[in-house]
Amino acid sequence: MTPTLTIHNPATGELIAELPADTAAVVAAKAAAARAAQPAWAAVPMAERLGAIQRFRALLVAEQDTLAATLTAEMGKPIAQARNELNGLLPRIDFFLEQAEAAVRDEPVFADGGLQETISHIPLGVVANISAWNYPYFVGCNVIVPALLTGNAVLYKPSEHASLSGRHITRLLHQAGIPAAVMQLLVGGGEVGAALLDQRIDGLFFTGSHATGVRIAQALAPKLVKLQLELGGKDPTYVRADANPQAAAESLADGAMYNTGQSCCSVERIYVDERIHDAFVAHFLATVAGFKLGDPMDAGTYIGAITRAPQLDVLDGQVADALAQGAVLHCGGHRLAGPGNWYAPTVLTNVHHGMALMREESFGPIIGIQKVRSDEEAVTLMNDSRYGLTAGIFTRDEARARTLLAQVNAGSVYWNCCDRVSPRLPWSGHGDSGIGLTLSTHGILAFTRPKAWHLRQP
Ligand code: NAD
Repeated sequence: MTPTLTIHNPATGELIAELPADTAAVVAAKAAAARAAQPAWAAVPMAERLGAIQRFRALLVAEQDTLAATLTAEMGKPIAQARNELNGLLPRIDFFLEQAEAAVRDEPVFADGGLQETISHIPLGVVANISAWNYPYFVGCNVIVPALLTGNAVLYKPSEHASLSGRHITRLLHQAGIPAAVMQLLVGGGEVGAALLDQRIDGLFFTGSHATGVRIAQALAPKLVKLQLELGGKDPTYVRADANPQAAAESLADGAMYNTGQSCCSVERIYVDERIHDAFVAHFLATVAGFKLGDPMDAGTYIGAITRAPQLDVLDGQVADALAQGAVLHCGGHRLAGPGNWYAPTVLTNVHHGMALMREESFGPIIGIQKVRSDEEAVTLMNDSRYGLTAGIFTRDEARARTLLAQVNAGSVYWNCCDRVSPRLPWSGHGDSGIGLTLSTHGILAFTRPKAWHLRQP
C-alpha cells in the first residue's frame, strides 16, 4: 500500500492535502533514474542549462500568488513574508546565473614548454538534498540551482512541512526544461530521507536540525560521500553603550521575531551594555507590541503560526526554566488558544547562561536580553555556545566592531544589522551549526570536484 503524507495548516489545524509518499523501492528507482540521466545532463552546454534556470526564474515570478499562498497555508508563514521569500530568491538565482559559468571554467595554472597543468571542475554526479521547512525556497534553491547548473542530477527531499512548496519548485523546474529524471522530488518524512541515504549518491546537502544532521553524518560515514550540514544556531548580538538604543532595538526585535522566530539565523540572544539596557528594553518592547499576530493570510500579519506543534513544548519549557531561575517576563510567555499552533511574542530579561533559553535553540518568537558590563564580557558570552552560525554587534565604532567580530566564533558576522543572508557571501556555520557552505562562488564550486590535468606534449 502507498503511504500517505498528510499536511495540516499549522494556523488552523485543518487538513489541507494528502500526498502519496514514496516507499523505499520508489526512492531507489528515482535514484537509479537520476544516476542514468546525469551524464547526458552534464553534457548539455552551460548556455542551455542557464536558459532553463532563467525560465524557472520567470515562472517563479509569474506564479508568485499561488506559491506564496501555498507556503503560507502549509507552514503558517505570514503571507507578506512568503512573498518576501519568493522575491528574495530572485537575486540569489541571478547571482548563480551570473557566476556559474566563470566559477567552473577550466583554470590553466602552469605552462612550461611542453608541460601544461590545468584544473577542471566536474560535477559531483547525483546530489541529494534533504531540506528544512522554514525557508523552503531559500534552502532548497541554494542547493538545487547551483547543483543543476554545474551538471548534477538532484534528488530533492523537501521537509514534510513544506512538501507542497517542494512540489511547486520541482514542477516549475520541469516546466522550465530540466529533464524529469535529472530533478527528482521525493515525498515523505524522515523515513524517506533515511531511505535516500541508502542509495548510491555523490553528495548529501542537508539543512535541518543538529540532531538529524548528526544522524545523517553517522549513516553516511562508511560511504565517504561528500557531506554538507547546515544546522541550527543560537545567534547572539551585542549592543554596545555607544549604540542608538532605539535603532538597535527595532532592528533586533525584527531579527528575533521575523518568520515567527523560525529562522536559522534568528537573533536568539541579546547582550546589552548596562548603561543603555533599560532604554533598549523599552524600545524593544514597544516594537514587539506593534507586531500584529494573527491570520497568516492577512497582509498585515507579522507573527504567524508555529509550524511544528512539538516546538510549543520547547518554548514553554524554556520560559518555565528561565522564570524558575529568576528571569523577568515582560510579555508573552504562553501559547495561545487554538485551533492551530500559536505562541505569544515573549521577551525575558534578567537572564543568564544557566538557562536553556540562552543555550538551546528556541526557534520561536521568544528572546532573552542579558545585561553586560564590558566588551570582554559580551564576547565571552557570545562565544559561550556550541553553535556558531551568525553573530552581530551594534555600535557606532567601526574599528571596535571589527576587532570584536574577529574574536567571535561564527560563520557570518554583522555590524549594525542582523538576520541577513547575501548570495555573494558564503553561508556556513561553525561548531554544531554545521559543516560546508552554500552561496557565493564557493557555494557553486561545492557541487563540483576539482580534476587535475597533467598534460605533456609528445
Ligand atoms: P529536521 O532535522 O527535523 O528535518 C530536516 C529534514 O530532515 C526534513 O526533510 C526531514 O524529513 C529529514 N529527516 C528527518 N529525520 C531524518 C533521517 N533520520 N534521515 C534523513 N532525513 C531525515 O529539521 P527542521 O525542523 O526541518 O528544520 C529546523 C532546523 O533547521 C532548525 O534547527 C534550523 O536552525 C535549521 N536550519 C538551518 C539553516 C542553515 O542554513 N544553517 C537553514 C534553515 C534551517
